[in-house]
Amino acid sequence: MARIVKKFGGTSVGDVERIQNVARVIKSEHDAGNEVVVVVSARSGVTNDLIARAKAINPNPTDREMDMLLVSGEQETIALTAMALQALGVDAVSMTGAMAGIRTEPFHTRARIVSMDCKEIVHNLEANRVVIVAGFQGAGNQGQITTLGRGGSDLSAIALAKGVDADLCQIYTDVDGVYTADPRIVPKARKLTEISYEEMLELASLGTKVMQARSVEFSNKYNVPFEVRSSFNNNPGTIVKEEVSSMEDVVVRGVALDKNQAKVMIANIPDKPGSAARIFEGLSEANVVVDMIIQNIGRNGVANLTFTVPRDDTDRASQAVERILSELGGGEVTFVSDIAKLSVVGIGMRSHSGVASQLFSALGEAEANIQLISTSEIKISVVIDESESDHATRVVHTVFGLDKE
Ligand code: ASP
Ligand code: MG
Repeated sequence: MARIVKKFGGTSVGDVERIQNVARVIKSEHDAGNEVVVVVSARSGVTNDLIARAKAINPNPTDREMDMLLVSGEQETIALTAMALQALGVDAVSMTGAMAGIRTEPFHTRARIVSMDCKEIVHNLEANRVVIVAGFQGAGNQGQITTLGRGGSDLSAIALAKGVDADLCQIYTDVDGVYTADPRIVPKARKLTEISYEEMLELASLGTKVMQARSVEFSNKYNVPFEVRSSFNNNPGTIVKEEVSSMEDVVVRGVALDKNQAKVMIANIPDKPGSAARIFEGLSEANVVVDMIIQNIGRNGVANLTFTVPRDDTDRASQAVERILSELGGGEVTFVSDIAKLSVVGIGMRSHSGVASQLFSALGEAEANIQLISTSEIKISVVIDESESDHATRVVHTVFGLDKE
C-alpha cells in the first residue's frame, strides 16, 4: 500500500467528461489498495474569467476580495470531483485549503505556506476515504482565506505530499512530461525521464509553464520528488528529483524559449551615482520584474542602460521610466518588443567547459545576432530577434545533442 498525492490541472478537469475521466484514474488507484489525496485546480479559464469579472465591476478590487472570489473556482471542482467518485461507488470527501490544514502568511494573493497540519486528511485516509483538496488556497492565522499565487495548485500538491508524508506525488497535466524543448517549436524534442529540481526550477522560471516556479522551489527545499505526467494517457512522465551524479554527464538538459519579453534601452542617462538605482527602484515600485541588465561605461557624462521586462508590463515600465528620467533630468528610452530569450539549462555546465562558446557558435550558424547575454551556474541565456528564434532553438537543440533519433 502506498500513500499517493495526485494533482489535476485546469484542463484535466475542464468539463464533465474530463472530471469523470479523472475520477476513473483515482478509482483505479484506490482499488489497487492505495491511499489517495487529490488536489484539483479550477476548470481552465475560470480563474481568468473571475479576474475579468472583478475588474469590470471595480478596476482596483482589494486583494482580500480577490482571494475570496478566486477560491470559488477550486471549490467547484473539488465538490464535482468528489461527486464523480461517489457516483462510481468510491467514498470521497472534499476539503478547502483551510480544512486540509494549509496554513499561510496572513497576506493576500501570493501568501507563502508557513505550516501544514494534515491530521484531518490522514484521519479520512485511514477511514478508506479519498480526500479531494482545493488547490491554490490556504488560511491565515485568523482564518483569512488566502491564495498561493497563480498556478498555486502545484504548490498545494507538493506541500501536501510533504505534509502527509506521501510515497509518491504525481502532477497530471495536459502534456506528457518535461521535454528537452517545446515540441511545437522543436519537433525533435524528447521527453526527459528525469530532471533535477534545480534544472526544473530554471525551466519553470524561464516561462515553460509546465509548473509553478514556487512549487519547484518548495520541492527542492524539502526534497519532495514528483512526477509530471499526462491525464489523457497512461505514459510514464518525467520524474523531478534530487540531483544524482550521473545527471552531470549531460551538459545541456533542455533549451527554453521565452517570447514574452521586451527590451528597454535607455540612452544618455546623466552618469552620476544613484541613477541606475533610481531607475530600478522606480520599476520595482511599479511592480515590474527586470531580468537581463547591461550598463555600458559612461562617456561624456552620460551612460546607456539596456534591460528586459515581461512584454505585458511594457506600459507600466515605460510610465515608470519616463517619470524617473524626467526626475534625473535626461535620457531617452526605446522599447523593442520583437525579441526572444533563448536559454540552455543543465547542471552538467558546472563540470563542463566551453558551453558558452558552443552556444554562441550555434547561434552564429543559425544567423541569430546576440543582443544580450546572462549566465548562472547552470544556465546561459541570450536575447535574439524574435523572427530568428524558432530556427535558432532548433539549431541549438541539435548542436547540444538533444534531438531524438
Ligand atoms: N486556478 C489557479 C490559477 O489559475 C490556480 C491553479 O490553477 O493552479 O492560477
Ligand atoms: Mg498549472
